Amino acid sequence: MTETALTVHQTARPHGFPTPADFAFIESPLPEPTPGTALVENLYWSVDPYHREMMDGDFALNAPLEGRALGRVVESRDPALREGEMVLHWQGWRTHSVVTPAEVRAVPHFDGVPLSAHLSILGGTGLTAYVGLTRVAELREGQDVFVSAAAGGVGTATGRLAGLMGAGRLVGSAGTAAKAAYLTEHVGYDEVFDYHTGPTAELLAKAAPDGIDLYMDNVGGEHLEAAISSLREYGRIVRIGTITQYNSTGAPYTLRNLPDIVEKSLRMEGFHLRNHFDVQEELNEFVVPHLQSGRIGLDETVVDGFGGIVDAFLGMLRGENRGKIIVRAAGAADSSGV
Ligand code: NAP
Repeated sequence: MTETALTVHQTARPHGFPTPADFAFIESPLPEPTPGTALVENLYWSVDPYHREMMDGDFALNAPLEGRALGRVVESRDPALREGEMVLHWQGWRTHSVVTPAEVRAVPHFDGVPLSAHLSILGGTGLTAYVGLTRVAELREGQDVFVSAAAGGVGTATGRLAGLMGAGRLVGSAGTAAKAAYLTEHVGYDEVFDYHTGPTAELLAKAAPDGIDLYMDNVGGEHLEAAISSLREYGRIVRIGTITQYNSTGAPYTLRNLPDIVEKSLRMEGFHLRNHFDVQEELNEFVVPHLQSGRIGLDETVVDGFGGIVDAFLGMLRGENRGKIIVRAAGAADSSGV
């Protein structure tokens, strides 16, 4: 184990897109666990769009950032935390964390499933997709689904899970032609368009000429307006996120077809993952056998080295990831858990 720890602090409030200058890596001696806590050496980190939302005011400046991380207990002063145990916690953006038993969740071992999966399809990303499809959309077999940011973490998980659940036609949108090709070739989407190539409403109408039953909305704005136009009567919109606005300095997009929600008896509902952590076991039971049989694969962009965490976060906001973006500690590849 190294002798010092690194922690990322936010040092300024960004106006629009954040830059590396809004963050600092702070070096300090290794923290020491006090009675009732344990020292965790972090191995995998999740960087997420919600971090950008929190940078506007929720994160304190010049203090350690929070985030999902997975690591190994290396020194324990509490019998509930065994040395060598793998745990998930929220004290991310740092190489080492001192945690209490209440702050962690033990990482279950599933034969053949890499540790990184606990931050992608089995993590908050997959759980968001699963809750959206089962609890909010109440997806039924044969229903046609449209997903925005389809090549991202939640978008790829939504495609994989909807396919397993027997959805009808799966249509997606993504930021490049290469991402679109990946989604149709590997993830199970039937049709994917690059939303930079024209007005979203026209692209969606062409990709789904017979309409859609369900829209899984990761982005808001023009995509949401397009989906309202393409939804069939009694269709549903699941509001997951609004990434079009997180870096925007302009006025929010104004939807021009709100009357269609009434005319077509549409239903729109948002949700927050923090209210659905009780669904985790059900997700594991549903997905793990399909990962183990190879029926579905992992969609992950893995960045090596904690020093790349800020660039990974900024790259994700720019759309440089394909699947869930995960940062992996140097040398952690050997702890894959497979
Ligand atoms: P992600 O999709 O892996 O990464 C973000 C993606 O958004 C980028 O790869 C980029 O892909 C796309 N994007 C960026 N700017 C865009 C724009 N202006 N218009 C359209 N697409 C844009 O991130 P994620 O973690 O899976 O999150 C996806 C969404 O789910 C976010 O809105 C997030 O806030 C939300 N979320 C909500 C919950 C909840 O509890 N409700 C939980 C987790 C995540 P392209 O190349 O395709 O542009």
